[in-house]
Amino acid sequence: METTLTEKYHCEPLPDLQYPGGKRPPDLFAYPRPSGPIRLVFIGWNPPKPFGGFWSLNGEDNLRSALHEILTRIEEVVAKKPDGTFLDEFLSKGFFFLHAVKCWTKAKYPGFGRNARKEDRDKVGLPLLRACSATHLHAELEQLSPAKVCALGVVPYLSLRHAYRASGRLPEIGSPTEGRVFEPSDTGLGWPLLYTCFPQPQPVIVRGKTERVVAKELTRRHLEMFLQ
Ligand SMILES: [Zn+2]
Repeated sequence: METTLTEKYHCEPLPDLQYPGGKRPPDLFAYPRPSGPIRLVFIGWNPPKPFGGFWSLNGEDNLRSALHEILTRIEEVVAKKPDGTFLDEFLSKGFFFLHAVKCWTKAKYPGFGRNARKEDRDKVGLPLLRACSATHLHAELEQLSPAKVCALGVVPYLSLRHAYRASGRLPEIGSPTEGRVFEPSDTGLGWPLLYTCFPQPQPVIVRGKTERVVAKELTRRHLEMFLQ
């Protein structure tokens, strides 16, 4: 993995699309090469810092730590820490990870998440999401050809919906707390899709219920069910 992670990610912009606020090419390392058939691809939001995020061992990453904890608890991996050993095991067990938006490398994505402003969403967040997912996401998923896909929150879900707008039938957005599974027979996509929470340590209210559950715990419950 050493060699692939030191390469830069190449991404050619589509000529007729605007990338408001985005960086072309993105500040992102290339993804590692999968080691075999992919059981499940996780789709996250965007790298939280330049050349940082899930695959980067240049410091800690909250999402890598959260997925390590979840996959350990449901007994999919045995690595003790969210380090390079975990990433190797993650790949060898048929998991993979992609960012939905690659051209935004800050922890806060414009117009989404806590304290989000609608103006930021309309002017930057959504146009960038559409441009970026149109450039990368469809082709990457076709190449990976996974058995299952898991969208970790609203930005990944909307990105998938946009990337497959021509061939797929993903419904208007619901809440990721519902943990909905969309079957290929309903969507026209080549794989079942789980739409669950970004695994944060904050509690969220489950739609339609009064209980508050830590988002990460909901992700774990949904994922355990989806992987069976
Ligand atoms: Zn991009």
